[in-house]
Amino acid sequence: MKCIICGRESSKPICEVCSKAIAMDFPFILHRGMALSDESSNLDDENTQRSILFQRDLQRLNELAKRALNGEEVNFLLLARYALLFHEKFSFFLNNFELGDNYYLTLAKNFASKIEGDDGKFLLAKIHVNMGELDEAEEIMSKIWKKDRKFAMFYGEILVKGGKWGRAIEIYNELLSNSPEDEELWMMMADAICASGNYEEAERAYLRVLQYDQNNALAWYKRGKCLINAGKWGGALQSFQTATRKDPSLKDAYEEMLKILMDRGMYSRALETLKKMKEAGFDVDERMAEVEEAMHS
Ligand SMILES: [Zn+2]
Repeated sequence: MKCIICGRESSKPICEVCSKAIAMDFPFILHRGMALSDESSNLDDENTQRSILFQRDLQRLNELAKRALNGEEVNFLLLARYALLFHEKFSFFLNNFELGDNYYLTLAKNFASKIEGDDGKFLLAKIHVNMGELDEAEEIMSKIWKKDRKFAMFYGEILVKGGKWGRAIEIYNELLSNSPEDEELWMMMADAICASGNYEEAERAYLRVLQYDQNNALAWYKRGKCLINAGKWGGALQSFQTATRKDPSLKDAYEEMLKILMDRGMYSRALETLKKMKEAGFDVDERMAEVEEAMHS
């Protein structure tokens, strides 16, 4: 194909030369005219999801980034956070450019490396995880995890991802010794134990989560998965059923129930389950017909 800007032969709609020129002027690539109206801004609002971009925010981001890349001291933390957000939400946009899939991540890494203090290190570790560099992320977090609950939780997640469940469990135990009723921590602890393959103990950890919040549908679902792995399909069925009662949109829980019921030829209960799914808004008409046919054959 030919570049839509200069007409050169190119494998992407915008050739390498034009892509690089745009990146120099607009390091965030997206720029004015590609975003919502000028009326609002949410750049400085810590609490928004920041998935909606406003024209003036984009303009400010691009200007700040340009200054940063020219060696000026600017708010690197803001830039790094946004570059990471762009990687997560707007990477598809890079398909039009000859810049590589990791363009925003590389940008984020560049900004994050200039941030002083632990917030910068934390962000850098997040970027490493996104780049698949678990060892680098682990190295960074191993030095700062004690300073902040959110650091510790992220360190635990990295360890679980890397298969180092034992170390993750140690860290969660240490955190739980200070706040033994932290539901979110118990959930992470349960996930780590489950990942280690110790399903009976993981089940008990999920029960602990449910002790603090019996409406936690995801904990009911995950407990069900542990019970299946421990060979207790009756209890698993009950746990999945409770999960769907607490959250009727939890599709995976219905699917697990259906798997158990169909494997055991329990067609009328499978049909009941599909009816509940239909009530919850899932399109299951074809599957219901199949189960009815299986019942009468
Ligand atoms: Zn071009």
